Amino acid sequence: MKRDLAALAGREHDLLVVGGGIHGAAAAWDAAQRGLSVALVEVGDFGSGTSWNSLKTIHGGLRHLQWADLGALRESVRERAALLRIAPELVHPLGFVLPVYGHGPRGREAMAAALLASNLLSARRNDGLPASHRIPRARMLSPREVLACAPGVDPRGLTGGASWTDAQVSSSERLLVGFLHAAAEAGAVLASRVEVTGLRRNGSRIDGAHALDREGGATLEVRGRIVLNATGPWSDRLFSSSGLAKPPSCLLRALNLVLRRRLVDRQALGGRGDGRYLFLVPWRDGCIVGTGYEPSDEPSGDGGVQALLDEARRAFPWAGLERTDVSLVHRGLVPGRGGAAGLASRGRIVDHEAEEGLPGLVSIEPVKYTTARAVAARAVDLVVRRLGAPAAPCRTDVTALPRARSLSGPLAERARCAVRDEMALHLTDAVLRRLDLGTAGPPPPEVVEEVARAMASERGWDAARVAREKADLRRAYAPDGSVRDGMP
Ligand SMILES: Cc1cc2nc3c(=O)[nH]c(=O)nc-3n(C[C@H](O)[C@H](O)[C@H](O)COP(=O)(O)OP(=O)(O)OC[C@H]3O[C@@H](n4cnc5c(N)ncnc54)[C@H](O)[C@@H]3O)c2cc1C
Repeated sequence: MKRDLAALAGREHDLLVVGGGIHGAAAAWDAAQRGLSVALVEVGDFGSGTSWNSLKTIHGGLRHLQWADLGALRESVRERAALLRIAPELVHPLGFVLPVYGHGPRGREAMAAALLASNLLSARRNDGLPASHRIPRARMLSPREVLACAPGVDPRGLTGGASWTDAQVSSSERLLVGFLHAAAEAGAVLASRVEVTGLRRNGSRIDGAHALDREGGATLEVRGRIVLNATGPWSDRLFSSSGLAKPPSCLLRALNLVLRRRLVDRQALGGRGDGRYLFLVPWRDGCIVGTGYEPSDEPSGDGGVQALLDEARRAFPWAGLERTDVSLVHRGLVPGRGGAAGLASRGRIVDHEAEEGLPGLVSIEPVKYTTARAVAARAVDLVVRRLGAPAAPCRTDVTALPRARSLSGPLAERARCAVRDEMALHLTDAVLRRLDLGTAGPPPPEVVEEVARAMASERGWDAARVAREKADLRRAYAPDGSVRDGMP
């Protein structure tokens, strides 16, 4: 993965992907694998947007049963299997337990029926998976079994528990980089810290983007026969900077809290919050609780942290949660369904030629990290149709990502590898996303020092530059506990 701006601007690409989150990365790999010439630009570091802020669960989509959305459930099951297959070092099965009370619509019988339906609908969930990565059938637990694995749970009225297995990605950043390595090895030109400042128009057609190199300050013209907008929640901003008038998207603010205490160990635990389920998921030496959602236009004073903590106290009263338990806050914008209907259930591909008479532009409206590969594949199917050229079929669901794994070796060596081979341009890139040192809270100063020293020798930084890089890393951990290192 080399940052080559001459290659970016020096030719017309079949496809220009704007946005280097998980959807952009998966689309770049998919299109390059099918034989298209591909460029991808990302304004910040790869994966520094919404993709950094996830609960790290790869869902089989049990929640889609609430709306009887069987298509979404099947897609989630297929994608969970695909990620377990193509990135087995990073994606592992994770058990979930949800205590169940009473006999009503959320009681034992209703939950047993949901698990039965889920087992039937996911009969092929283990196709092509090694024994270590197979997903067992979901089943109901007795109250005694629930209390054995979660002793703090309130036993009054407990009628059992739902037990199912999903998956967890141990480093969502490394998985994203795994997609990017595969794309680069298949010929894609990738560049971080390049901002698209507006889409290029040639008559009614979009034929590329005006861009700014945020490192050197130069402006660039990047030509693409098709532009794929994978900027997620920043789509409205891209459209308006390109003079495209559109109604604003319906977005929700999503929030997780990373907790210092390891309240759950080998499996995740659900609890009923205010009209929804929250989950405690094991993470590093602690755990993550989430996901809370609130309308994006009604931010509370602290961005919803206290409200989510209070709700988590109601869902898990035995845990005695305090504000001091929170080591990091994940926040991001995700698509809503409009009104009070909550989170959208499936990613959507927008064909701007068919919908608005705007050829040359395709957009992804993302929903989940879990289904990013499939959504990207649908987007690239459309790109191939619009290009009208022959292309190989999509094989990203069965092609292993050889670099989807953690870097190995002594820390200084890993830092040098991140610089040389993985486009880590800044200390934040290396610490937060290549070396996975800051995903449970700020890393210790001596660790930061060692990475900074290795990067300085690799990139020729002087003492003043090292001090600036360290200050930027400190500033990235915002006072509200979140990491603000993405899109400016
Ligand atoms: C708190 C939280 C918890 C979540 N938990 C889960 C979970 O457990 N499981 C799950 O499956 N999903 C989860 N999700 C959803 C998932 O994280 C998102 O659906 C996914 O990461 C979106 O990826 P993306 O590539 O579309 O967007 P992003 O990762 O935001 O990528 C878009 C990129 O575009 C870049 N960009 C924007 N404008 C420009 C421009 N003009 N020029 C160049 N680049 C630009 C941005 O910098 C950004 O990096 C969660 C989301 C949140 C917020």
